[in-house]
Amino acid sequence: MIYRSTRNYEETATASEAILKGLANEGGLFVPDEIPELDISFEELAEMDYRDVAYEVMSRMFDDFTETELRECIEGAYDSKFDTDLIAPVKYHHGAYILELFHGKTIAFKDMALSILPYLMTTAARKNNMEKEIVILTATSGDTGKAALAGFADVPGTKIAVFYPKNGVSPIQEKQMVTEKGKNTFVAGITGNFDDAQTGVKKMFSDKALAEYMDEKGYVFSSANSINIGRLVPQMVYYVYAYTRLVKAGSVAAGDPINIVVPTGNFGNILAAYYASLMGLPVRKFICASNDNKVLYDFFTTGTYDKNREFILTSSPSMDILISSNLERLIYRIAGNDAEKNAELMKSLNETGKYEITDEMKKNLYQFYGNFADSEEVSEIIRTLYKEDGYIIDTHTAVAVSVYDKYKNETDDKTPTLIASTASPYKFTRSVVTAIDPSLEEKGDFELVDELEALSKVKIPQAVEEIRTAPVVHETVCDKEEMESVVKKFLGI
Ligand SMILES: *Cc1c(COP(=O)(O)O)cnc(C)c1O
Repeated sequence: MIYRSTRNYEETATASEAILKGLANEGGLFVPDEIPELDISFEELAEMDYRDVAYEVMSRMFDDFTETELRECIEGAYDSKFDTDLIAPVKYHHGAYILELFHGKTIAFKDMALSILPYLMTTAARKNNMEKEIVILTATSGDTGKAALAGFADVPGTKIAVFYPKNGVSPIQEKQMVTEKGKNTFVAGITGNFDDAQTGVKKMFSDKALAEYMDEKGYVFSSANSINIGRLVPQMVYYVYAYTRLVKAGSVAAGDPINIVVPTGNFGNILAAYYASLMGLPVRKFICASNDNKVLYDFFTTGTYDKNREFILTSSPSMDILISSNLERLIYRIAGNDAEKNAELMKSLNETGKYEITDEMKKNLYQFYGNFADSEEVSEIIRTLYKEDGYIIDTHTAVAVSVYDKYKNETDDKTPTLIASTASPYKFTRSVVTAIDPSLEEKGDFELVDELEALSKVKIPQAVEEIRTAPVVHETVCDKEEMESVVKKFLGI
């Protein structure tokens, strides 16, 4: 398989090279030239466990890894770090199949890919005889940060630096990050929002002089954000896995389509679902759910992407994003894999904060539906599901469920629907508990954790227990202009 840059048709890479590099030159993203067909039946897949399904999907996309290499990566990632053997259980609530993606170490869906990325990356380094130390640069809206730290902590040959918006993450998310003990880790809050953090990281990636300096010092940058194809491909797996569980349970007939609803920020998770469909997963609609930062909803309804608007802090902070990086991969595709056209639009985004796609391109988006839910609707739907059968969802999943209700009301579509549940409610206890019982508002963050346990009858996850009393290790706060210098300081160069 060949991977190409979305901004330069001539820049190609093998899968392992693309994983190592993270980002292509000139800010482009690596995309597969073609997505191979999943030439194995759903009935066969239905009999496999998560690891074997992961192998089937990932071996098609990462074709320069040997079977032994890939299986070792998968075994290392999807083990008892997850609190269930199913890895990603599917539950039925509120008329939809809820795919719980938060059973990993840091209780958000980011664990699904970040558990395996360090294995993929170190294997890729070995395959490509890369002797430099890999420095992972990560911008986070809250969940990627801890999941990447947990994945890369003390992995030989790697260091990791994480930047999060100082006032833009939940208290539990922040505590998870700043208590990280790994010796090769660095965490800094920035006085800015997620887009500032992401832009700063991308700038360091595309700085040629900086790359040369790093090279001299024996370092090379890579990315743990979903701009890295090594994040996206492991995320295709759970859509195939979930579908085949539905087949196995008799909830859908093999080959019949489903809808997939994804609460979306950087557009990585929903793009992984789209890629899975290009591989052969039968999907009717991709329902893109946004919070008040509804730049994607506006894009799907008008064909114009416009980030020139107020950045709103919502109760679903991991989706507080105005520059959805992975949308670029979809734009490239609907332009007919046209790197020149895509580069032109991205240049416009860079310079004016917006771009408009052609009618021709718009036609290729017929499978996508976008809508949004505000914080009040989020609280309301959390309450509704709790009242229905005691099931408690987090604020991001709530955005998805609320948008799915809107979609059903508008279309009357009865297609069986899978909703990606992206975080444990324990990560956003304040918003979740007060949505159910506003009288608990005065309580402290960890008191609310105990309240949530009483309400949900779901045991407090290890990830939350272990940060209750953990000491703060990382205290750096910096301006976005200082990101490069704090990274250098961390590396001692
Ligand atoms: C990251 C995140 C999202 C958004 O996922 P994208 O791939 O960026 O679209 C949604 N919910 C939660 C809980 C997240 O951590």
